[in-house]
Amino acid sequence: MKTKIVATIGPASSSEEMLRNLIINGVSVFRLNFSHSSYEDHQLVIDRIHKLNTELGTNIAILADLQGPKLRIGLMENGQAFMEDGHELVFTTNECTCNSDRLFITYPEFARDVKPGEDILLDDGKLLFRVLETNKIDEVKAKVIHGGILSSKKGVNLPNTIISLPSMTEKDLRDLQFALKNRVNWIALSFVRTANDIIELRKSISQYAEEGLSVRIIAKIEKPEAVKNMDAIVEATDGIMVARGDLGVELPLEQVPLVQKTLVNKCIKACKPVIIATQMMEGMISNIRPTRAEVNDVANSVLDGADALMLSGETSIGQYPVEVIQTMKKIIREVEEFQDIYNKHHEANLENKEYLISDSILFSACNIAWEANAKAILAMTHTGYSAFRISSQRPKTDVYIFSNDHELLCTLNLVWGINGIFFDEIEHSTTRTLKKITEKLIASGLIKQGDLLVNVASTPIYISGKTNMLKLSFA
Ligand code: PEP
Repeated sequence: MKTKIVATIGPASSSEEMLRNLIINGVSVFRLNFSHSSYEDHQLVIDRIHKLNTELGTNIAILADLQGPKLRIGLMENGQAFMEDGHELVFTTNECTCNSDRLFITYPEFARDVKPGEDILLDDGKLLFRVLETNKIDEVKAKVIHGGILSSKKGVNLPNTIISLPSMTEKDLRDLQFALKNRVNWIALSFVRTANDIIELRKSISQYAEEGLSVRIIAKIEKPEAVKNMDAIVEATDGIMVARGDLGVELPLEQVPLVQKTLVNKCIKACKPVIIATQMMEGMISNIRPTRAEVNDVANSVLDGADALMLSGETSIGQYPVEVIQTMKKIIREVEEFQDIYNKHHEANLENKEYLISDSILFSACNIAWEANAKAILAMTHTGYSAFRISSQRPKTDVYIFSNDHELLCTLNLVWGINGIFFDEIEHSTTRTLKKITEKLIASGLIKQGDLLVNVASTPIYISGKTNMLKLSFA
């Protein structure tokens, strides 16, 4: 299976037995959602994943998803209130118990940033209010456009407002330090607005990360501002998540499919992984079978060329975490039989002189593997560079990436088509090293004697360097 599955962990999936079952059935990455759960719970899960990686010989990655500047209302009197269409009320930034006339919002600059006529969406867009006036200090008068029941602490989305909050809260910084201490592989940041948010996160990572830790960043695209700035964000980040939950609240829903396709194309071109998230198999939270529309959504995301598909409630609180993985795997496998998804993206960008040689070799390796119908592409990596480049060509040929860095192999487990294999027996002789990795693949049953192989490596092979060698051989 080339397309990877990301499963969000929650009460339905955090036991060791369930985690093992999910790995065996096809999960490549576990997502820890820092909007929920305590550090104690996250710690237990992280320790279990590390233990299972050793026990099963897998490279399952951990993605820590930071909440970002999520806006909420406060606690409601009696837990909830009915908001009637046409009713006028006040949002205040002074903490208070909320009722149908007064709602506290956790955003101190709200009255200064918002303008009359802008929309306020509550509870994932179920309720819509419109701003009437603001005193520019602490109170905003608004009118209920689409009302309904509003309960405590529901999320607030302000799709038209330029929000002046910092991209990371105090909580995000604490969560980041916890995640880095536990050596997670990917950090996702919610509500990214500009490339600068990623640059700031990178600075915080270098401030708090232990030496040698190479954690990478996923920018969650869920705001219209981020859609507008997508080129700069793709350039600044290491990967993207199309976070369709909040994106579908903040952007007109009908625009989400094309934003997904645009982002997937841009990420493939930039050789950076892209995850499609939210409501992929939502119905399977409580049903054993997905809807036809859900099957189509999964299939179309694979056809788009996404690196990974993410499950949220389906695996964190759903009744059928294992079945949802099995079902998703069947759909992915079926679609991956379709030849048109491979080798579509072969316009190598060879403008960067520094990478001219390695990029030429890596892209040529994929082309040759396709032309010659090779059994496998084999590459060694110290930084992951070769893996990201090879994957971006979406080769049909199996790809095996060898590294002596187990954490890097886990990072690469998110990436389309990449199979990481731990290897720490590099010799001075290139020929002997390639022979060893070939023998390792034969011994594990992944290839057979006589299979055509495409090898890429740097020479001398025992020194970390840019890929400059391409060799075809029979195993
Ligand atoms: C989303 O909004 O689609 C998303 C993935 O983010 P979260 O689950 O943190 O709301």
